[in-house]
Amino acid sequence: MMKQRALASIARIAELSPIAGADRIELARVAGWQCVVKKGEFKLGELAVYLEIDAVPPERSEFSWLWQQKGATAPTPRPVTFRIRTLRLRGTLSQGLLMPLSQAGVSSDVREGDDVTEKLQVTKYEPPAPSGMGEWRAGFPSLVPKTDEMRVQAVPDVLAELKGQPFLATVKMDGTSSTFVFVDGALHACGRNHSILEGENLYWYVAKKYRLAEVLAGSSLAIQGEIVGPGVQKNPAGLKDKSLFVFNVYDTRTGEHLSDDELRAFCSKHSLEPVPVAFRGDAFDETVESLLQKAEGVYAGTTNQREGIVVRPVKPMRSTVLGGRLSFKAISNRYLLDERD
Ligand code: ATP
Ligand code: MN
Repeated sequence: MMKQRALASIARIAELSPIAGADRIELARVAGWQCVVKKGEFKLGELAVYLEIDAVPPERSEFSWLWQQKGATAPTPRPVTFRIRTLRLRGTLSQGLLMPLSQAGVSSDVREGDDVTEKLQVTKYEPPAPSGMGEWRAGFPSLVPKTDEMRVQAVPDVLAELKGQPFLATVKMDGTSSTFVFVDGALHACGRNHSILEGENLYWYVAKKYRLAEVLAGSSLAIQGEIVGPGVQKNPAGLKDKSLFVFNVYDTRTGEHLSDDELRAFCSKHSLEPVPVAFRGDAFDETVESLLQKAEGVYAGTTNQREGIVVRPVKPMRSTVLGGRLSFKAISNRYLLDERD
């Protein structure tokens, strides 16, 4: 089973360090994340509840201080857009929320890495769906893996797995995921979670623009890419027309992904555009910090911050840490800090 994101988990305080000029707060590290906490609240090596960024805590008293308005006499309801965000506190980056087990109402017989998302009724923030996304046609084709990427801070052990390998980092395009594949002789254009009925919508616009029915006719390949352009998210890449940037070509017959070289050759043969390369190397030797630094940058031809990068070996590899294909993302903290609802 491919590793899923745990919005709330049991984490060990791996490091505690002072913040210059601040005497009431300090910096805690859990896995690859850093999080500002009250000084003295946690001990090194202790277990705590950790809520990742994008976690939406339940409307319960243990959490309500997070959104309670100062001076309000009655409890403030949780704003619809509320979520744990990336913050800068006293000049220090803070991502996530750390709580003592007792404060979160979790018994002490838990173990490091336990996923307590459901137990605590923590949910995930989802940005409002844009219009023009089309109507449901069928479930997601079972022969194709859904698209997803883990954040490097949540799975820092993948770095050791990739070490020394030829790799590339592609620019993470900030749009919406799509999958195109023939099922029982018919082309399916799919969003993140299901197949979409043919019509005046984003997915079929792209399918026709790139003539994907012709490209994929008689083939067992699935094309997966990000649709970006006007009306999709905030179009930070500044494109004039809705466009597809291919990040996966997957063979449903063999269950294998094409290598990056094969993917780029396939794209060039069919006049498709692959996701742009941010950087590459012959022997991977990056850290969480170096990747977060390199994740920052702007979309080509714009001054808009890019969302980040996706890192993979040039030839597909299996990751034990991820329980599937080795591939992960580093999201730009500058992008996260700039994010507005
Ligand atoms: P999270 O997992 O952090 O909660 P999420 O599940 O919404 O967020 P995204 O942040 O959208 O995931 O990251 C994964 C998605 O990134 C993929 O599903 C894919 O649609 C998209 N993507 C954009 N650019 C690329 C790229 N260059 N390589 C791979 N995937 C990319
Ligand atoms: Mn995800």
